Amino acid sequence: MLLLCLDRASADRVMREVHAGVCVPHMGGHMLACKIMRTGYFWLTIETDCCQFVQRCPECQIHGDLIHVPPSELHALTSPWPFSVWGIDIIGKISPKSSSGHEFILVAIDYFTKWVEVASYARLTSARVASFIISHIICRYGVPHELISDRRVHFRAEIDTLVQRYNIRHHRSSAYRPQMNGAVEPANKNIKRILRRMVETSRDWSEKLPFALWAYRTSFRTSTDATPYSLVYGMEAMLPVEIEMGSLKVALEQQIPKADWAQARFDQLNLLDERRLRAANHVRAYQRKMVRAFKKRVRPRPLRIGDLVLKVIKGLIRDPRGKFRPNWSGPYFIRELTPEGAVWLMDLDGNRFSEPTNVD
Ligand SMILES: [Zn+2]
Repeated sequence: MLLLCLDRASADRVMREVHAGVCVPHMGGHMLACKIMRTGYFWLTIETDCCQFVQRCPECQIHGDLIHVPPSELHALTSPWPFSVWGIDIIGKISPKSSSGHEFILVAIDYFTKWVEVASYARLTSARVASFIISHIICRYGVPHELISDRRVHFRAEIDTLVQRYNIRHHRSSAYRPQMNGAVEPANKNIKRILRRMVETSRDWSEKLPFALWAYRTSFRTSTDATPYSLVYGMEAMLPVEIEMGSLKVALEQQIPKADWAQARFDQLNLLDERRLRAANHVRAYQRKMVRAFKKRVRPRPLRIGDLVLKVIKGLIRDPRGKFRPNWSGPYFIRELTPEGAVWLMDLDGNRFSEPTNVD
């Protein structure tokens, strides 16, 4: 069959028609070129043009796969002693609400022991966050040296007053940048994953929160090579299954005389420092390994002010389109850019985002 050679304008029309017209599946560039040839058209740069056309197709872009390759290196963060550095984060708005009307979860994690404190709220203000810091962190574990959060409004106003009063360093990293928030904090990701799964499976999630917390605190963490519970209390927690099934630990503890038990507990506590040192060393080694592995995967994506970009749609958003909702939103202009990788975006109508986004 002789193919009809098209000029620029007709080529554009054919590409659009074949790629995005009625009942066609937004195929890739190579397949698009083949389909056009089979339909009976041709031009010299058909394959290159088709590939470029598909790259620019808005629908293909907003439904494009998420990029998992990091654009910048990891900044590891360690904590010198238990309860000296806390990361604090918000999960939400969660939809649907819990049966008690709660929509937000506030999560705080101690970077040393990976101990977590969590509370859920119907409405979240910076005053509530401040009172959480006082009741759940300061009154239980003492005044921290440093607090790490993102830049959301909940971490301003009352929080600023609070950190000034107790002389706490407040490190505000840019939104959704887990690297800055403490070394791709695997613990943070884990507790969030646990909570997320809980939220998705149950409407009573705010009532089930204590159980999720307990499960987290008593389970083994790879980064410290210990359970958070043991690093805080120097012993392992008694789990219900041990009482019900009867374990050696239960049997032994019921048999030993009080004085012996006290001595054993005393020894346990004396060895706690050593256990914590071991955990600190383990964390450092673990982070070095993470940084090395991370470095290998870094692929720089240079961005400049004025560039048009798409932004990943994130979070626990229930979209009526379900799994067919787009992965990306945009395009947006880059209005401002910091070397740490925070960007301020503006949409095409000139509306500015008040919060920064990270380049990841
Ligand atoms: Zn497309």
